[in-house]
Amino acid sequence: MRVSPGLALGVVALVSTSPLLAWHAEGHRITTFEAVTLLAEELPQFLQDGRDQMAWDSIDPDLMRNRSLPQLRDRESPDHYLDLELLQGGGLPDTRSEFLEHIASPEVGMGIEKVGGLPYAVVEATQRLTLAFAQVRHQPANEHLQAKVMLYAAQLAHYAADLCQPLHTTIHHDGRALEDYSSPYTGIHQQVDALIGRLEPQAEIRGEPLVLKPIFPAVVEELKRSHAEVDRVYQLEGDLALLEAGGEPSAELRSWTRDRYRASVLFTASLILTAWRESADLQIPEWGLPEQPPTN
Ligand SMILES: [Zn+2]
Repeated sequence: MRVSPGLALGVVALVSTSPLLAWHAEGHRITTFEAVTLLAEELPQFLQDGRDQMAWDSIDPDLMRNRSLPQLRDRESPDHYLDLELLQGGGLPDTRSEFLEHIASPEVGMGIEKVGGLPYAVVEATQRLTLAFAQVRHQPANEHLQAKVMLYAAQLAHYAADLCQPLHTTIHHDGRALEDYSSPYTGIHQQVDALIGRLEPQAEIRGEPLVLKPIFPAVVEELKRSHAEVDRVYQLEGDLALLEAGGEPSAELRSWTRDRYRASVLFTASLILTAWRESADLQIPEWGLPEQPPTN
């Protein structure tokens, strides 16, 4: 859908007021834990031992959107969504600065707080983890470096799972945007956010985690797959409302939740695997490698 910049401003004003806590805390914890479990054979053992900690840390990016910390909230919030329709059909350039330039142009005419920057957050978090993995390869027993890896991986897991929640990729984030671009605020966003924690869809993951290379186009493809589920979400609106009212989840809702859960786990695992493999060839300058592990 094409919208004029003037009208689109009306749409995005409501975007920025959405709670946007994809998959809620419980959903983030479950997907993070399962993604790391999936990589047990390939990743160093400390990551398996730290799964509970990482699952817990994966909710941090949502905590950073605390209204009492306005500068942090302003910086952090756009990293949790991308309203694909607002790009006026334009593509997503490779870097955040090119993207900022694109959305500031007359063609789009908006800031990142309106459009969102989720795919950039995903790739930047993956590359931050690549750097930490490269350090830990030099000093595998250094617990300080291990702790850093776990924190970065947990934060990456958050953005990856957000991307797989379709309502984080659209202007229709909480009910179909109305003709005047106001939101009906139907509450569907939080109903979808709650699904993984509520239905606990843990299921066998079909498929293997993949090394995503080149990474940015692969992230954009995953974003588009998630966005393609927006219509399905709205087809399930009645099922979601029934569940919210205390009814039993429908088979369709269970099946869809399982599919999105699998996508979240597999995408998260693929990004962590990508960071691990890429770290093998990453050069770290001498000053980035402590001589001895720091002592307490
Ligand atoms: Zn989030």
